[in-house]
Amino acid sequence: MTFTQGPLADGRYFSQSQPLDDFGWDMHILKPLTPVIRAQWFSAAFAGGFYGFAILLGGIGWQRLRLRRERERRTLARTRDQLERNVERRTRDLVETNRRLSTEIDERRRAEANLRQTRDELVQAAKLAVLGQLAAGINHELNQPLAAIQAYAENARRFIERQRHQDADHNLAQIIELTGRMAEISAQLRQFSRKSSETLSAVSVASCFDYALRLFHSRLDNAGVQVERHWGSEDIHVLADTVRLEQVLVNLIGNALQAMAGVRDPRLILSFAASGDNVKIEVGDNGPGIGDDNLERVFEPFFTTKSRGSGLGLGLSISSRIIDDLGGRLRAGHRQGGCALFTITLPLYHQARWADEADPQESSSHA
Ligand code: ADP
Repeated sequence: MTFTQGPLADGRYFSQSQPLDDFGWDMHILKPLTPVIRAQWFSAAFAGGFYGFAILLGGIGWQRLRLRRERERRTLARTRDQLERNVERRTRDLVETNRRLSTEIDERRRAEANLRQTRDELVQAAKLAVLGQLAAGINHELNQPLAAIQAYAENARRFIERQRHQDADHNLAQIIELTGRMAEISAQLRQFSRKSSETLSAVSVASCFDYALRLFHSRLDNAGVQVERHWGSEDIHVLADTVRLEQVLVNLIGNALQAMAGVRDPRLILSFAASGDNVKIEVGDNGPGIGDDNLERVFEPFFTTKSRGSGLGLGLSISSRIIDDLGGRLRAGHRQGGCALFTITLPLYHQARWADEADPQESSSHA
């Protein structure tokens, strides 16, 4: 097939096509191209404008995005700077607080050490006060065997001169026994003035009572005090410190003795029994008792109703402090008839629970 085309006089275009086999011509008249070209130009201009506009929009968008990023970057930088300044200030504050805290801790430690030392000194002072009370009795306890030893020794010399060796030997045996007793008294005093230990262990309550009663032996005897011991054969142990518990019992018994001065048929009533996880230890007497108003005040330092010289008013406050430190409680109350009754509550020593920490055999045996 063959094509021919060209413009017509009226501006339209024609095209002819001749099939290859018969050479006959077909003519097609086409519409003028001007509007098409115009439309093409218009479309091109429109497309160009559109793309230009789109590019412009894109540019504006990109610029705004860039500006926003820049703003964000600046804000971030400002925030970071602020944050760094804050962190720096906080760190400075923390370092300062830390320094202050360290100073405070040091001061507290020093104050605590001072307090402990003062307390120890007070405890020792209270012991000395009790020793002062005991002095007369101790004097008697020591002087009696001393005089006897002197007499036995003098007689022994005479027996030896007269060749009565058996009598001399008997006297020497007496001297040995008496010096043993004196050594025992001295050991008790040494035990009383020794320092307590920080660690708690199993302490036999009966042994502590025995020790305190031995210390007061001559005073109880002289005052004709009947001592009642209300406990069974079972040896109960508390988790405590022997020296400190003995000191408390010595204080309580010493007070009871003083309170019963002048009482007819004085009675010292001692007891202890386990109750749940605790042991209740009681020291009672048949003295005048403590007035209801004073039941709490007796634990205040320097509270005393005794005459000057016979009471410092420290015994009970120190005793209460000691029992607190041992994890227990000391209370003052009344027995029947309004007589005084002091109750100590201390944790029971459980063999199984505390087995690794203490050996009851050790602490229950006294020198
Ligand atoms: P002090 O014995 O030196 O006075 P304490 O602190 O041991 O100091 O006792 C304080 C007070 O508690 C005593 O002065 C006394 O009034 C009272 N008190 C203590 N024990 C007894 C008791 N068994 N009976 C009556 N009053 C007591």
